[in-house]
This record gives sequence, C-alpha cells and structure tokens, in this order.
Amino acid sequence: MNGTDYDLVIIGAGPAGMAAALYAGRARLSVLVLEKAAPGGQILVTDWIENYPGFSEGISGPDLMEQMLAQVKRFDVEIKSGEVVSMDISGPVKQLVLLDATITARAVIIATGTSFRKLGVPGENRYLGRGVSTCATCDAPFFKDSIVVAVGGGDTALQESIYLTRFVKKVYLVHRRDQLRAVKILQERAALNDKLEIVWDSTVTEIKGGSEGVEAVTVKNLKTGEAADIPAEGCFVWVGSLPNAGFAAGHMEMDGQGFIITDDRMRTNIPGVYAAGDVRNTPLRQVVTAVADGAVAASDVMHYLDNM
Ligand code: NAP
Repeated sequence: MNGTDYDLVIIGAGPAGMAAALYAGRARLSVLVLEKAAPGGQILVTDWIENYPGFSEGISGPDLMEQMLAQVKRFDVEIKSGEVVSMDISGPVKQLVLLDATITARAVIIATGTSFRKLGVPGENRYLGRGVSTCATCDAPFFKDSIVVAVGGGDTALQESIYLTRFVKKVYLVHRRDQLRAVKILQERAALNDKLEIVWDSTVTEIKGGSEGVEAVTVKNLKTGEAADIPAEGCFVWVGSLPNAGFAAGHMEMDGQGFIITDDRMRTNIPGVYAAGDVRNTPLRQVVTAVADGAVAASDVMHYLDNM
C-alpha cells in the first residue's frame, strides 16, 4: 500500500460514497469507507424513492441502501464507523484524524452529504425530539391523528408532508412564498391531498409548548404582517440543507455556504482529494447524481494513483 494504510479512504457511506467504493473496489484498490452513523445517509430516512432509474415502482430508501451495501461488500471494501475530526491533506500522504485513531491514504473522497438546516426560531432547539423533527419516517407514528405544522416548499417538505398525512389528522405546510420550489408531480399530489393545507406567504416565528412538548406554532403572514398560533403537537422543519464539511473547512475551496467546490472530475483544489454527492456545490442533489459523482470521483482516483 505504498506506506499508507489505504489507497483510498471514502468519508461517508451514502449513495455517493457507496458508488465510489464499488468502482474503487472493482479496480482492486485498498479502500476504507468511514461512516459516522449507519451507512446510508439521508436515503435511510427516505420512505420511497421513485426517481432512481431501474425500479419501475420505486424503492424504499433503506432497501436501496441495503442493496448498495451488499453490492459493495462483494468487492473487499472495508467499512468502518468513525468520524473525521481533522485532517492533513496537503501532501501526497493524506492523514485523517478520527476521534480514536489516525488513518493515512493516498487519496480521499469526501462524500459526507448534508444535514437539515434549522429555522433558528425560539422553541426549535428546546422542543427538538419533543415535537420538533426533521424526520417523518422516524417520527410520524408519534403524531397519529394529531395536527402538525411543516415548514418549507422544496422536494423534501412536500414529499415528507405527504408521507405525514398517512398518520396525522392534518398538516399545515407553511411556505414563505406563493409558489413552491418542489417538482411539479409532488405539487400535484399535495394539491389533491385533503389532509394537507398550504399556508402561503408565511413563516414560522416561534414554536411554543409546555413540559410535555409542542402545543402551538406561531405563523406570520409576510404580506399582511399578521401573526396567529396554529395549535399543533408537532413541527417538522424542511428548509434546505447545509454541507457536512466542517472538518474540511480551511483545507480546500468551498462556496459561501460551505459546499466543497470541485471540477467535473470531482477534484477539489487539493491533489488527491475529491468530493462527491450532496456535499459538493452541485446543481442537483439526488441519488442519481450522487452515485454518478461517486463513480466519476473513483475513476479519477485511479488515474491519480497511476500517475503518482
Ligand atoms: P431546498 O430545495 O433547498 O428547499 C428548501 C425550501 O425551504 C425552499 O422552499 C425554501 O424557500 C425554504 N426555506 C429556506 N430557508 C427558509 C427559511 N429560513 N424559512 C422558511 N423557508 C425557508 O431543500 P430540500 O427540499 O431539502 O431539497 C434539497 C435537495 O434534495 C434538492 O436538490 C432536492 O431536489 C433534493 N431532494 C429530492 C427529492 C426527490 O427527488 N424526491 C426529495 C428530497 C430532496 P424558497 O423556495 O422560497 O427558497
């Protein structure tokens, strides 16, 4: 392994990391995939994926991940749990410092995805896990026959709010504009769903509650300035995402929001360091683009290592 522990370390075991591992494993590189939590990333909390080609009826996120993981394991890829807290990647030997060890590699692919952005309103942190949530598939059953508020107008907010309606009595989806950002098919489904009501041109200003959890959500109409409380037991926040790249900050070029800048071969400005999937500044964040990024990154790693 030329003096390093691995040829390639892939940080993150979501779709981008899994695809990179598959390509690198088949190229017979020595590969370690590091994952902070369970392999899968955000698709683990995605109920149903219907825009990933090859599954005519769609597939559940956990099932797709299970398939990806089983496929990768056929090619001698090592997968370990571990969190990178800092790194020294400027030279040809990349050092990754974990909480309990230091690992070296000749190349690194960062595929750490994103986390949900917070609203930043009073009550959000206080009631997190006690009514405030970002995960419908995890928490929807706790809100059976309740009224909940959801926030956001993108694909996540629409898809997850529609999922919530299988459990709850009513979802008020608060969106700050009079037009949704989500793809049209989700907008059509939302419009046909009797349990889902969109509160247009509005924003959540406070999440209120008592010792048991959330009791009401204050919503302000941005056009009229009027504010009112919606009695609700839950508030689901889906207002976009932020990159999981804090550990890489200062080591490579990032955009204003902290997404890693790459070229079309997924190369960062540091030789031998790549980024793939949602964590990079990409125009589309989907499973299909994440796996494509992973494949492109891994195949460029092969050229990079050959030329080293
Ligand atoms: P997103 O597309 O960035 O949408 C975020 C939404 O939150 C927008 O509607 C935005 O409003 C709103 N928002 C942002 N900040 C806000 C604030 N402070 N207060 C109130 N509202 C706020 O994020 P996303 O929906 O999580 O999607 C992220 C990526 O994953 C996207 O690329 C999406 O396509 C992808 N995704 C795809 C699927 C799928 O293919 N089925 C499912 C989930 C996610 P504005 O519209 O006014 O900006």
